[in-house]
Amino acid sequence: YLVDATAARRKPIAFTPKEQPVMQKDQKIALVTGGSGFIGSHICEALLAEGARVLCLDNFLTGRRENIRHLERDDRFELLDCDVIDRLPFRIRGGRTRFTHIYHLACAASPPHYQADPEHTMLTNVVGTRNMLHLAEQNGARLLLTSTSEVYGDPEVHPQSEDYRGWVSCTGPRACYDEGKRAAETLAFDYLRNARAEVRVARIFNTYGPRMRPDDGRVVSNVICQALAGEDITIYGDGAQTRSFCYVSDLVDGLIRLMDSDKAVGFPVNLGNPNELTVSDLVDRVLAMTNSRSRVIHTELPEDDPRRRKPDIGRARELLDWEPKVSLQQGLEATIAWFRQEGDIVEPWRGV
Ligand code: NAD
Ligand code: UDP
Repeated sequence: YLVDATAARRKPIAFTPKEQPVMQKDQKIALVTGGSGFIGSHICEALLAEGARVLCLDNFLTGRRENIRHLERDDRFELLDCDVIDRLPFRIRGGRTRFTHIYHLACAASPPHYQADPEHTMLTNVVGTRNMLHLAEQNGARLLLTSTSEVYGDPEVHPQSEDYRGWVSCTGPRACYDEGKRAAETLAFDYLRNARAEVRVARIFNTYGPRMRPDDGRVVSNVICQALAGEDITIYGDGAQTRSFCYVSDLVDGLIRLMDSDKAVGFPVNLGNPNELTVSDLVDRVLAMTNSRSRVIHTELPEDDPRRRKPDIGRARELLDWEPKVSLQQGLEATIAWFRQEGDIVEPWRGV
């Protein structure tokens, strides 16, 4: 077993202990925190396809069982309902299991969700990341931290390269996430500097695709769900703010390349699609692609909302031989088709 049921039973958890098939030589044993979330579920799927064993750890704050139900049939996949802030079950902490790789994604990523309990968000990033780094140290595992373009705050430099140190408010409503991720990066590089764990740090820019929650609250899922339901499309502010959207399969490819790279060590790496557009442009595209008659309404711009964002991906191109391949048109088509298929669960965002 990857974890033992006795330890897991101490908590009221959904846990699927499975007798593992015979271990293959050089087989990866991966822990994926936040593995039932949007990006995490795609990572679990990709790792299983590569032949790895996967333990998905999640507290289901924003993750969904539906995202991983198809993976639960696989003997090499186990699920543990657990919070990264809490003391970990024994088998994970110090038992026989030896993880080779830890993909650390646990943290709500959508502003309304991470702001709903800012203290928990900050602790997830700081205490949770410390716990996972400690586990990596104990296991001799390599850890990949999913940091964010939010570490650049409302950037004064455009596009953003990894050398830019950012313009971040440490007191605003986004700080629990931005500053939490900055602290998580600090911890990761301290572990690396002191040779306590091998780490890789990805700074992920806006990513979208199937398995986003309809009530996630981020712009792509909101606009698609509103357009499909014929509800008003909410643009916050004048819609002139920009973002650069990356399709999830491209991102997952980048994350796995980064984890496996022996070159991208000792510094963070931006992963995202440099194709920048305004929020209004995004809305126009979705309206055209869905033939929707929804009205567009403008509501208040949230505090500290970054005005522009576009990744410089020179480092990822050079060191990982990576760049996004899926165009915005293709990615939106796939995402719209997925939300259409989810039909009955499409309930657009109406606030936390
Ligand atoms: P998501 O909200 O869909 O997934 C986050 C997952 O983490 C969920 O399954 C949630 O239940 C779980 N989680 C949250 N707090 C936890 C805790 N304390 N203990 C255990 N599990 C916990 O978000 P996502 O878009 O899949 O993002 C995944 C990671 O990528 C996050 O770390 C996020 O900061 C980072 N990221 C995402 C984007 C993006 O555009 N999607 C951009 C930058 C960074
Ligand atoms: N946004 C919007 N309408 C929505 C949701 C978001 O206009 O229904 C805007 C938001 O203010 C921001 C941009 O879209 O300027 C991207 O927001 P999202 O929450 O997706 O990501 P982030 O702000 O974290 O980049």
